[in-house]
Amino acid sequence: SLRNRATSRNPRKFTVPLDNMGQTKRVSEYYGELTFDFKTSEDISDTTKREIIKALDEGRGIKKEHAEAVAKAVTDWAVSNGATHFCHWFQPLTGGTAEKHDAFFSFNKEGKAIERLSASQLMQGEPDASSFPNGGSRSTFEARGYTTWDLTSPMFLIETVNGRTLYIPTAFVSYLGESLDIKTPLLKSISALGPAATKFLKLAGHTQSSSVHVTCGAEQEYFLIDKAFYYARPDLVMTGRTLFGALTTRNQQLEDHYFGLVPDRVLAFMQEFDYELHRLGIPSKTRHNEVAPGQFEMAPIFTEANVASDNNQIVMTTMRRIAEKHDMMVLLHEKPFAGINGSGKHVNWSMSDDTGLNLLEPGSEPQSNLRFLATVAIIVEALHRYANPLRMAISGAGNDHRLGANEAPPSIISAYLGDTIDKIFHAIMEDKSFEPTSNNVLNLGTNQLAHLLKDNTDRNRTSPFAFTGNKFEFRAVGSSHAIGLPMTILNAAVTDIFIEANSFLETEQGRGQTVDQSLMSLIKKFMTTSQKAVFNGDGYSKEWVAEAARRGLPNLRTTPEALKTMTDKNAYSFLVRNGIFHESEIETRYNILLERYIKIREIEFETMIDMIHQFVIPSGLEYKTMLTKIIKGQKEMGVPASNFEMDAYKKVSAKIDEVYVLAANLYKELGEDHSNHQKYAEKIATELMTTVTTMAGICNELEDLIPNQFYTLPKYYDMLFLR
Ligand code: ADP
Ligand code: MG
Repeated sequence: SLRNRATSRNPRKFTVPLDNMGQTKRVSEYYGELTFDFKTSEDISDTTKREIIKALDEGRGIKKEHAEAVAKAVTDWAVSNGATHFCHWFQPLTGGTAEKHDAFFSFNKEGKAIERLSASQLMQGEPDASSFPNGGSRSTFEARGYTTWDLTSPMFLIETVNGRTLYIPTAFVSYLGESLDIKTPLLKSISALGPAATKFLKLAGHTQSSSVHVTCGAEQEYFLIDKAFYYARPDLVMTGRTLFGALTTRNQQLEDHYFGLVPDRVLAFMQEFDYELHRLGIPSKTRHNEVAPGQFEMAPIFTEANVASDNNQIVMTTMRRIAEKHDMMVLLHEKPFAGINGSGKHVNWSMSDDTGLNLLEPGSEPQSNLRFLATVAIIVEALHRYANPLRMAISGAGNDHRLGANEAPPSIISAYLGDTIDKIFHAIMEDKSFEPTSNNVLNLGTNQLAHLLKDNTDRNRTSPFAFTGNKFEFRAVGSSHAIGLPMTILNAAVTDIFIEANSFLETEQGRGQTVDQSLMSLIKKFMTTSQKAVFNGDGYSKEWVAEAARRGLPNLRTTPEALKTMTDKNAYSFLVRNGIFHESEIETRYNILLERYIKIREIEFETMIDMIHQFVIPSGLEYKTMLTKIIKGQKEMGVPASNFEMDAYKKVSAKIDEVYVLAANLYKELGEDHSNHQKYAEKIATELMTTVTTMAGICNELEDLIPNQFYTLPKYYDMLFLR
């Protein structure tokens, strides 16, 4: 049986290779061995490296001869490491990754077979864009799309048992120059934030910085279940989540899974997974059990945002690849099991300058403290003002089961700052005579603030956007999402407020205010307008939903509502103004994401109807047959059937009828004409989702009624507890 198969497996043994001394290789010996970064290659001259970096800094293209030098070096490296093919790797708007492979194999002038990657092959590819969702942005005759090499992210080798392929990170744009991917706007948002933040630092008296970049570390939550159960659940295969399933008696009530002993098979997976990530230059650092049974987490050391975004994509695919070797499947869906803790991606986000200063790290001088507080105020203002676009950026069918499902960060965008910062802000706002160096509340002139924040490690796990000591943690991001879009919107929102803050500071300082005074006025101004977006309480509570409504905060509960933001010029103008998206690119994304939502739900509905017919009802009928036999037999024997048999029979019959009718109606609904996508999506999110929730409830009741021997689908018990 499936259960026997799952429980009799042993942890997979894999061995880290030995070094020349016959010792098991240490991580420092294999870290990054599958990556190629032109900056560290010994086969590229220092002049070439310098020229390329300079071109990158100045935002212009690199010279052909420099690209040729890199192409030659990377080909030698990749081919000598066993690569036969290379591919342009990109992130289309579906949120996943795409790749088109070509062989290094080529002919030289004499017609002899050689290995080769030309500069132009490295720099540009031309996948057929018409096969990717384009949101109606282009007619098929202009379906050409280009992938262009992103030099800021390292190339890497992906290995299967049969060989290796060189992956070249690229951006994907249409023939007409529209971005068709997640990376391009992310890069634009990073480039926009840099100068605005640098200028802010200067105005805040920190004149040493010449550039600022975004830093990010994405914690990844996931479920692992045995492969046998996965393939026996069509809903998992088709939709990534169980569309129904009765809860087991013990789920997560005992709270004993979080940080508990990692099961052997899972630990074996984690070890191999970490090994692979380290070889790929992905700084995986932390691994542990998460809240729900069968749920786990990995977290890397933070890096530059664009690299972190690429890395997270590689994390997701590598995770799947390695888990399968261990006969397990990774579930990245935000809510694979109703009623059980969902999975998110905590996007840890901050900014650093070229001297290594973290803009969200309070310092030891009064000015650095004020600069820090002003930075926090700017971010909170951005969060408040651009709450809807940020909510849009984390929307998706999967995340709808998490956000606002009263056991996850709500769909209300708010910030958690913790008591210390909150108190300081209140003091600044309320006490007009408050001076940066005065002793009321706390002395900002010492490193007291840094200490206080360090000690003040109170964690609020219920906030969608929490300050955690030296960074913000955007927790409402879904576990399956590409982090590129949420980061793009966040960067753009913060950029916009930085720009506004800069002109405010310039005006105030021009009027004779000192740097400190102007920062103080800035904090006061922004915290007054954005105070209502600060919430330090329990974000999962019903009280907060009511309180947020009283405060006038938006609460876009579902994906269709959230996506509508992209049809509201006022809401998205900051994205256009700061050069992140053209208006048409926003329209493209709106169409694609809305259509994607509809398709995902339709697939869920159809799968659900199928499973009801193929599994649930037949199981119920088997049970009825059994009951019929008993009831008949007893009658023949002259014994009246007991209440139980009759009751069970009637109950199963009634439930089957009920779910059958609902399924038939839903099926009919799917066949109707739905030309207005927004309306249809809204109908799905409200009416139809309510129907399928009812249907799932009936299926669960049947699952509880029907004896195990007749119930053929793996249960939560199997998927969550057996390995
Ligand atoms: P916790 O969430 O338990 O506090 P850590 O403090 O180690 O754990 O941080 C979690 C994640 O935040 C890690 O991926 C870490 O690298 C990342 N992180 C830490 N500092 C920064 C920063 N300045 N910018 C972006 N990410 C950061
Ligand atoms: Mg964390």
